[in-house]
Amino acid sequence: METKQFQAESKRLLEMMVHSIYSQKEIFLRELISNASDAIDKIYYKALTDDSISFNKDDYYIRMETDKNNRTLTVKDTGIGMTKEELEENLGTIAKSGSLAFKNEVEMKDGQEIIGQFGVGFYSSFMVADKVTVYTRSLHSDEGYKWESDGEEGYTIEPYDKQEVGTEIIIHLKENAEEENFDEYLEEYKLKSIIKKYSDFIRYPIKMEVTEQKPKEDNEEELVDVIEDQTINSMVPIWRKNKQELSDEDYESFYQEKHFGFDKPLSHLHISVDGMVRFQSILYIPEQLPFNYYSQDFEKGLELYSNGVLIMDKCADLLPDHFSFIRGIVDSEDLSLNISREILQQDRQVKLIAKNIEKKVKNHLQSMLKNDREKYEKFYNAFGRQIKYGVYSDFGANKDKLKDLLLFYSSSEQKLVALKEYIERMPEDQEHIYYATGESHDRIEKLPQTELVKDKGYEILYFTDEVDEFAIKMLMSYDDKEFKNVSSGDLDLEDEETKKEAEKQKEEYKELLAEMKEMLGNKVKDVKLSTRLKTHPVCLSAEGDVSIEMEKVLKQMPD
Ligand code: ADP
Ligand code: MG
Repeated sequence: METKQFQAESKRLLEMMVHSIYSQKEIFLRELISNASDAIDKIYYKALTDDSISFNKDDYYIRMETDKNNRTLTVKDTGIGMTKEELEENLGTIAKSGSLAFKNEVEMKDGQEIIGQFGVGFYSSFMVADKVTVYTRSLHSDEGYKWESDGEEGYTIEPYDKQEVGTEIIIHLKENAEEENFDEYLEEYKLKSIIKKYSDFIRYPIKMEVTEQKPKEDNEEELVDVIEDQTINSMVPIWRKNKQELSDEDYESFYQEKHFGFDKPLSHLHISVDGMVRFQSILYIPEQLPFNYYSQDFEKGLELYSNGVLIMDKCADLLPDHFSFIRGIVDSEDLSLNISREILQQDRQVKLIAKNIEKKVKNHLQSMLKNDREKYEKFYNAFGRQIKYGVYSDFGANKDKLKDLLLFYSSSEQKLVALKEYIERMPEDQEHIYYATGESHDRIEKLPQTELVKDKGYEILYFTDEVDEFAIKMLMSYDDKEFKNVSSGDLDLEDEETKKEAEKQKEEYKELLAEMKEMLGNKVKDVKLSTRLKTHPVCLSAEGDVSIEMEKVLKQMPD
């Protein structure tokens, strides 16, 4: 028998897990069941590409067993199992996603939150167990192993004679405490309700022996307890169900079951297409920006199923970058099962699905903007920047698709407005869409350059995000109205008389201006008289296409 220590991070997490007062301890069962289901998926997938493995659906299931005398709960599966190395790697350290986030992002004091947020899988069993025993045999090994841990210091591994491939996880329940009754998890009704709640769409049967009262055979009046094997979960994937049958809670629990995010979904779409390509899809807009969204770790993509069987975890080709925040699944009967990643990229069906999804998401957002402004603004505050990047990137290839999803803060409305709204209330004599850039709304308010434009009664859009102006430059105009930075050299807002007067003054002060320019040297390109200032003596302005703010950004970029 070998005794090993947990890695340092795992230890910290375990400690938190054990001592947490996390209210939803029952989720440990969801985690164990989804691991079991993943393990069966892995065999299923292997069998598709490997002729030496057969997959007979009846042989694959998850089974719950309880032993009231020993106070144990067992979750068995007939999945792919683990080799000794896999046992150490997978159960000896925190699952990859968890550890990084844990180290970098989270403070210990928020322990309670972390568990709820990160759904740390296997480890969550230590919320209810004082010992966990795992018996497992891998499909790729003739030897079985026993892994055991009390969830504190380390674990032991030893060979174990296991006949069948698969995994058996035995939860030794903690002693009941004053406020906590761990015996609950030995009760049939409790287990049933947890399974229904979290794991109803698991595609393999979750079996359990259930006691039912049934009429006696020879005497129908009399009821007797009959023990029978039942499948607890309904197994029909949610996306195959009728929208009308599903509640918001159903969609939410699917989101959670899939670990799409640690938040709640802000909104979902359930799509069923039966045209050139057939597919079903459930897509979610998360409520919050994933913590790694703007890092290199973030991978966009949707889960891709072929006829109910998972073929890819994150199919990136299904989502354009500007909608990379979308999470969800796609299931199509038109995809071949043993399609490889390389082929997938060129697959015509995948392209058609992706196009369709892009359109549906766009329409969904558009109607959200129209019908549920508050929700849309919530969305926009989290992901608006991605939409702006979308307008800007790929040389503006997607700008027309995305322009109506843009919102900017408005000087006159003092809230976010859409470009269409801006255009609709423009005074007749206004020719351009005006914007001003700066670090904050406050700063922009104080810009001398905004005075003349505001004086005219024109609305100004405030750009505080670096990408704003780049996006708008790519767009160039909206509804034939050109965008104009209030700080740009020539605004052409003055009436004839002012212009004439300005010409005159220009002559008059020629020498003074030249002298000022000389004194400032190469700090400025030119010194000019301006007609647009009202209460400020002087302002900086940019000439040509690049504004001062853009210049700042460009200077920061590596060459
Ligand atoms: P995650 O499921 O997010 O990877 P978990 O902590 O739930 O994290 O599980 C860690 C790893 O342990 C899994 O990725 C898997 O490789 C392995 N594992 C857990 N349970 C099983 C099981 N029942 N059968 C096979 N492998 C398992
Ligand atoms: Mg898991």
